[in-house]
Amino acid sequence: MTETRDQKGPPEVLIDPIDISKLDPGFRKEIQSMPNAEDLSACFACSTCTAACPIANIWDIKPHQLIRMILLGMRERVISSKEIWLCLTCFECQERCPQKVRVTDIFFDCKNLAAEEGRIPDTIIALGRELIEKGQLYIVTADWEREDLNLEPEVPGLSTEYVKKKLSETRTGRLVKGGD
Ligand code: SF4
Ligand code: SF4
Repeated sequence: MTETRDQKGPPEVLIDPIDISKLDPGFRKEIQSMPNAEDLSACFACSTCTAACPIANIWDIKPHQLIRMILLGMRERVISSKEIWLCLTCFECQERCPQKVRVTDIFFDCKNLAAEEGRIPDTIIALGRELIEKGQLYIVTADWEREDLNLEPEVPGLSTEYVKKKLSETRTGRLVKGGD
């Protein structure tokens, strides 16, 4: 999408034409067969999801446009988009969709498809590896901080070994470690 600015009036937005030959007619069904995406076709492009999204203003492709692109079969553009990974999973879009389209869950499905094809951003890989190696993403506060809060020095029962072992055995674990 290209945006031009006219000093005398509002910005004019030029949308790149869709190359029909690159559409994948099976993409809609592929997504609909995944968890919580059955109601995808109910979308009537009201863009309420985009209005509700706290970060859509920095996305080149807005949430309602991603949904429309899925419906049109723009598989490559959607699966390779950075926006599906930028989603905060706050569920604001999904909560407000008047057609009960599970927008956030559909973006999860897109991420799963992308991951299966090895298209995981380096930052996500790094987070995944950290989680598998340490069993947690955020280190629990230092002892003196717990003391200030009148908490016992150690978090009772905290063990990351089980989490690490289980994560390593999952498909996600193998993907982030560069396995099959
Ligand atoms: S809010 Fe729902 S119906 Fe409206 S554009 Fe988004 S997904 Fe489609
Ligand atoms: S779940 Fe993702 S797409 Fe939906 S409102 Fe939140 S950040 Fe935006």
